[in-house]
Amino acid sequence: MPLSRFGKRHERTFGREKEEWDGNFRKPPKPDSYYTQVKGQCRWCGNMIVNEDGTINERRSWHEDCATEYMIIYHSREQRAQLRIRDKGECNHCGVIGRKWDVDHIKPLWEQKGVKEEDLDWSYYKLSNLQTLCKKCHRKKTNQEHHIRAKTKRQEYSKEKYKELDKWE
Ligand SMILES: [Zn+2]
Ligand SMILES: [Zn+2]
Repeated sequence: MPLSRFGKRHERTFGREKEEWDGNFRKPPKPDSYYTQVKGQCRWCGNMIVNEDGTINERRSWHEDCATEYMIIYHSREQRAQLRIRDKGECNHCGVIGRKWDVDHIKPLWEQKGVKEEDLDWSYYKLSNLQTLCKKCHRKKTNQEHHIRAKTKRQEYSKEKYKELDKWE
Protein backbone atom coordinates (compact mmCIF):
# COMPACT_ATOMS: atom_id res chain seq x y z
CA MET A 1 0.00 0.00 0.00
CA PRO A 2 1.37 3.44 -0.83
CA LEU A 3 2.32 5.43 2.24
CA SER A 4 1.69 8.87 0.89
CA ARG A 5 -1.68 10.08 -0.27
CA PHE A 6 -2.81 9.58 -3.82
CA GLY A 7 -2.99 12.87 -5.68
CA LYS A 8 -6.38 13.68 -7.12
CA ARG A 9 -4.80 14.08 -10.52
CA HIS A 10 -4.37 10.35 -10.85
CA GLU A 11 -8.03 9.67 -10.48
CA ARG A 12 -8.97 11.59 -13.56
CA THR A 13 -7.25 9.88 -16.46
CA PHE A 14 -9.92 7.24 -16.88
CA GLY A 15 -10.54 6.97 -20.59
CA ARG A 16 -8.41 9.97 -21.40
CA GLU A 17 -6.18 9.90 -24.43
CA LYS A 18 -2.66 8.70 -23.77
CA GLU A 19 -0.15 11.49 -23.44
CA GLU A 20 2.98 11.34 -25.49
CA TRP A 21 6.12 10.87 -23.41
CA ASP A 22 8.32 13.94 -23.32
CA GLY A 23 11.45 11.80 -23.02
CA ASN A 24 12.19 12.85 -19.43
CA PHE A 25 14.05 9.81 -18.11
CA ARG A 26 13.27 10.80 -14.53
CA LYS A 27 9.56 10.39 -15.22
CA PRO A 28 9.18 7.38 -17.51
CA PRO A 29 6.09 7.05 -19.71
CA LYS A 30 2.94 5.63 -18.19
CA PRO A 31 1.60 2.40 -19.66
CA ASP A 32 -1.45 2.30 -21.95
CA SER A 33 -3.45 0.81 -19.10
CA TYR A 34 -2.96 4.05 -17.16
CA TYR A 35 -5.60 5.51 -19.47
CA THR A 36 -7.84 2.48 -19.35
CA GLN A 37 -11.56 2.63 -19.99
CA VAL A 38 -12.16 -0.79 -18.51
CA LYS A 39 -13.63 -0.87 -15.03
CA GLY A 40 -11.67 -3.12 -12.71
CA GLN A 41 -8.51 -3.04 -14.81
CA CYS A 42 -5.36 -2.02 -12.95
CA ARG A 43 -4.01 1.19 -14.38
CA TRP A 44 -0.44 0.16 -13.77
CA CYS A 45 -0.01 -3.51 -14.70
CA GLY A 46 -3.09 -3.77 -16.92
CA ASN A 47 -4.37 -6.94 -15.25
CA MET A 48 -7.86 -7.17 -13.82
CA ILE A 49 -8.41 -6.59 -10.11
CA VAL A 50 -10.03 -9.69 -8.79
CA ASN A 51 -12.03 -10.14 -5.57
CA GLU A 52 -11.44 -13.10 -3.30
CA ASP A 53 -14.45 -14.88 -4.80
CA GLY A 54 -12.97 -14.53 -8.28
CA THR A 55 -15.24 -11.77 -9.54
CA ILE A 56 -13.79 -8.57 -10.93
CA ASN A 57 -13.72 -5.60 -8.59
CA GLU A 58 -15.05 -2.85 -10.81
CA ARG A 59 -14.80 -0.19 -8.16
CA ARG A 60 -11.05 -0.33 -8.00
CA SER A 61 -8.45 0.75 -10.51
CA TRP A 62 -5.18 -0.14 -8.79
CA HIS A 63 -3.62 -3.19 -7.17
CA GLU A 64 -2.09 -2.10 -3.86
CA ASP A 65 1.40 -3.13 -4.92
CA CYS A 66 1.02 -1.47 -8.30
CA ALA A 67 -0.10 1.77 -6.66
CA THR A 68 3.00 1.67 -4.48
CA GLU A 69 5.27 1.02 -7.43
CA TYR A 70 3.64 3.85 -9.34
CA MET A 71 3.94 6.27 -6.43
CA ILE A 72 7.60 5.42 -5.92
CA ILE A 73 8.32 6.37 -9.51
CA TYR A 74 6.35 9.59 -9.76
CA HIS A 75 6.36 10.96 -6.22
CA SER A 76 9.59 11.55 -4.36
CA ARG A 77 7.64 11.76 -1.10
CA GLU A 78 6.68 8.12 -1.50
CA GLN A 79 10.33 7.19 -2.12
CA ARG A 80 11.32 8.75 1.18
CA ALA A 81 8.39 7.25 3.05
CA GLN A 82 9.23 3.75 1.80
CA LEU A 83 12.95 4.11 2.50
CA ARG A 84 12.32 5.49 5.97
CA ILE A 85 10.49 2.30 6.85
CA ARG A 86 12.91 -0.06 5.14
CA ASP A 87 16.25 1.52 6.11
CA LYS A 88 15.25 3.53 9.21
CA GLY A 89 17.62 6.36 8.38
CA GLU A 90 20.69 4.12 8.21
CA CYS A 91 23.20 5.02 5.52
CA ASN A 92 23.65 2.03 3.26
CA HIS A 93 27.31 2.89 2.76
CA CYS A 94 28.82 3.93 6.10
CA GLY A 95 26.06 2.76 8.43
CA VAL A 96 25.57 6.06 10.20
CA ILE A 97 22.02 6.60 11.43
CA GLY A 98 20.62 10.07 11.31
CA ARG A 99 17.68 12.23 10.45
CA LYS A 100 19.35 13.87 7.48
CA TRP A 101 19.65 11.47 4.58
CA ASP A 102 19.11 11.36 0.85
CA VAL A 103 17.33 8.99 -1.45
CA ASP A 104 19.87 7.57 -3.86
CA HIS A 105 19.41 5.51 -7.01
CA ILE A 106 21.95 2.69 -6.77
CA LYS A 107 22.16 2.42 -10.55
CA PRO A 108 22.05 6.10 -11.46
CA LEU A 109 18.95 7.18 -13.35
CA TRP A 110 20.91 9.17 -15.88
CA GLU A 111 22.02 5.90 -17.42
CA GLN A 112 18.48 5.79 -18.85
CA LYS A 113 18.88 9.16 -20.50
CA GLY A 114 18.18 9.07 -24.23
CA VAL A 115 16.92 5.48 -24.05
CA LYS A 116 13.88 4.84 -26.24
CA GLU A 117 10.53 4.20 -24.57
CA GLU A 118 10.49 0.53 -25.50
CA ASP A 119 14.08 -0.01 -24.30
CA LEU A 120 13.73 1.57 -20.84
CA ASP A 121 15.01 -0.59 -18.01
CA TRP A 122 12.28 -0.42 -15.38
CA SER A 123 14.48 -1.92 -12.67
CA TYR A 124 16.04 1.56 -12.36
CA TYR A 125 12.76 2.92 -11.05
CA LYS A 126 11.94 0.28 -8.47
CA LEU A 127 12.34 0.39 -4.70
CA SER A 128 15.09 -2.24 -4.98
CA ASN A 129 17.21 0.33 -6.81
CA LEU A 130 16.79 2.92 -4.06
CA GLN A 131 18.97 3.27 -1.01
CA THR A 132 19.39 5.55 1.97
CA LEU A 133 22.65 7.49 1.99
CA CYS A 134 23.81 10.04 4.50
CA LYS A 135 24.50 13.47 3.02
CA LYS A 136 28.25 12.89 3.08
CA CYS A 137 28.21 9.53 1.29
CA HIS A 138 25.64 10.78 -1.19
CA ARG A 139 27.82 13.73 -2.09
CA LYS A 140 30.78 11.44 -2.59
CA LYS A 141 28.84 9.03 -4.79
CA THR A 142 27.34 11.84 -6.86
CA ASN A 143 30.74 13.42 -7.43
CA GLN A 144 32.17 10.12 -8.52
CA GLU A 145 29.27 9.60 -10.91
CA HIS A 146 29.71 13.04 -12.42
CA HIS A 147 33.28 12.11 -13.09
CA ILE A 148 32.34 8.81 -14.75
CA ARG A 149 29.59 10.48 -16.71
CA ALA A 150 31.89 13.16 -18.04
CA LYS A 151 34.39 10.52 -19.01
CA THR A 152 31.79 8.41 -20.85
CA LYS A 153 30.58 11.48 -22.68
CA ARG A 154 34.09 12.23 -23.84
CA GLN A 155 34.55 8.67 -25.03
CA GLU A 156 31.27 8.71 -26.94
CA TYR A 157 32.29 11.95 -28.49
CA SER A 158 35.58 10.61 -29.73
CA LYS A 159 33.88 7.45 -30.97
CA GLU A 160 31.53 9.63 -33.01
CA LYS A 161 34.46 11.58 -34.35
CA TYR A 162 36.17 8.37 -35.23
CA LYS A 163 33.13 7.19 -37.16
CA GLU A 164 33.08 10.42 -39.09
CA LEU A 165 36.70 10.03 -39.97
CA ASP A 166 35.92 6.54 -41.14
CA LYS A 167 33.31 7.85 -43.52
CA TRP A 168 35.73 10.25 -45.06
CA GLU A 169 38.20 7.65 -46.07
ZN1 LIG B 1 -1.69 -4.04 -11.06
ZN1 LIG C 1 27.13 7.42 4.89
